[in-house]
Amino acid sequence: MASSVASTIVWLRDDLRLDDNPALSHAAGLGLPLTVVYILDEESDGIRPLGGAVRWWLHHSLTSLAADLEKTGSALTLRRGPAAKVIRELAEETGARQLVWNRRYGGPERALDADIKAWAAEGGIEATSFQANLLFEPWTITTGSGGPYKVFTPFWRACAAAGEPRKPLDAPTRLPSPAPAGRRKMAVSEPLADWNLLPVSPDWSGGLAKTWGPGEAGAHQRLDDFLDGPAEDYGTGRNVPGVEGTSRLSPHLRFGEISPFRIWHEIRLRFPREAGPDVGIFRSELGWREFCWQLLYVNPQLATRNYRPEFDAFEWQKPTPGELAAWQQGRTGYPLVDAGMRQLWQTGWMHNRVRMAAASFLVKNLLADWRLGEEWFWDTLVDADAASNPANWQWVAGSGADASPYFRIFNPVTQSKKFDAEGRYLREFIPELAPLDSKAIHEPWKQPEVEGYPAPVVGLPESRERALATYQRLKDQKQD
Ligand code: FAD
Repeated sequence: MASSVASTIVWLRDDLRLDDNPALSHAAGLGLPLTVVYILDEESDGIRPLGGAVRWWLHHSLTSLAADLEKTGSALTLRRGPAAKVIRELAEETGARQLVWNRRYGGPERALDADIKAWAAEGGIEATSFQANLLFEPWTITTGSGGPYKVFTPFWRACAAAGEPRKPLDAPTRLPSPAPAGRRKMAVSEPLADWNLLPVSPDWSGGLAKTWGPGEAGAHQRLDDFLDGPAEDYGTGRNVPGVEGTSRLSPHLRFGEISPFRIWHEIRLRFPREAGPDVGIFRSELGWREFCWQLLYVNPQLATRNYRPEFDAFEWQKPTPGELAAWQQGRTGYPLVDAGMRQLWQTGWMHNRVRMAAASFLVKNLLADWRLGEEWFWDTLVDADAASNPANWQWVAGSGADASPYFRIFNPVTQSKKFDAEGRYLREFIPELAPLDSKAIHEPWKQPEVEGYPAPVVGLPESRERALATYQRLKDQKQD
């Protein structure tokens, strides 16, 4: 039933936080009754269905957000359905005259938001949007001729020239209630359990629950732990998969449980300007996140189309079901690849260096189309996002922006000897190899049979030659 008292809707999407949430702070400042809504939209045109690991995360993140909102006198309303329809219904139910959100950057999402803005304008509802999830709006960082950057280093230099990112906003401690006593009915929330975001049979989420604390408090804890620990030595530590040398903030950033502005300024506070190069390297990783989103903003089809169209003619080979399953399940016979793929399955996350090696193995040694790997990661990563996942897959495949040249083929043996010399990471995820010493563990096929561990699915030298020959044919075609 329509209400006669004007109110505000704040629509949270990939910004499940109270801290540095410009939409929420703006909505609070309006002083009107406030409905805070999250919409599970699996129906609007072009919206990519969430992967399994991300659904698990979302369930817990929403639970945590609802509890945080309650402490401020507010509440979280959950609705499922096509977002435009849900917003229309909610505006009708609550008598909303204000609609507020933080911007998102994917193609279908932007089209949807534009439609809703147009609908709001027609109905006399004021729709206001804010910058919250990227330090630099993609359309503001352009080359001299006004186009998008295709290479990271000048992109990041241009970001630096654009000035220091704004200071983060404090979390509101009190929010207007959705329904001041006696004045209106509160919008009804759907029970989260009805959304079936958690896996049931089988329930594979035990390892995720042990590893992660979804929600805003968990995100801030991660940042503190990182700044108190690995940050100082990030430049070296980030390459070693057997130690916690990185921030592990990626899934928290994926859901906007922590703001990049907060991270940026916390680093500034803890590490003054004269801090060593490690802090700069960490900042530039945040820059890669910005670069990936800029790539998606300009190329909405990044997950399905080669960024470099000449790769459309590349002769990918369809892997046999056995090869694909071996890669997915961590049974390729190459310990670094297998440890990574098992870490992914068990914890929903994989170390960046190992992601590169595992991805290179799929697209180069098995010669499989990068989209197969992108889809698997989309389903299994807790940090799977619409920009970083395809952009990094294309980077590894050679079809992307500023990509690793195709002829750069990660050697999983050399990589594990270099970055996991003692075999600590390998032993953690491949118990079958635990008895091997730190020399033998990188090449178990050279040992008398290791119980329970498979022989390599392909030989490294021949598969490398095959990949290089395939690439050469693509180059030759281009010259014809
Ligand atoms: P840190 O080293 O602590 O870095 C801090 C933050 O910087 C990260 O949380 C992330 O937001 C950003 N960042 C770091 N490296 C990159 C990068 N190469 N590209 C974009 N942002 C980066 N990252 C995702 O967030 N989502 C994905 O879906 C994703 N898919 C990937 C797929 C492949 C094949 C590869 C090679 C990399 C992928 N990455 C993805 C990038 C990177 O592996 C992760 O961001 C990083 O491992 C997350 O761990 P962290 O938070 O400890 O990173």
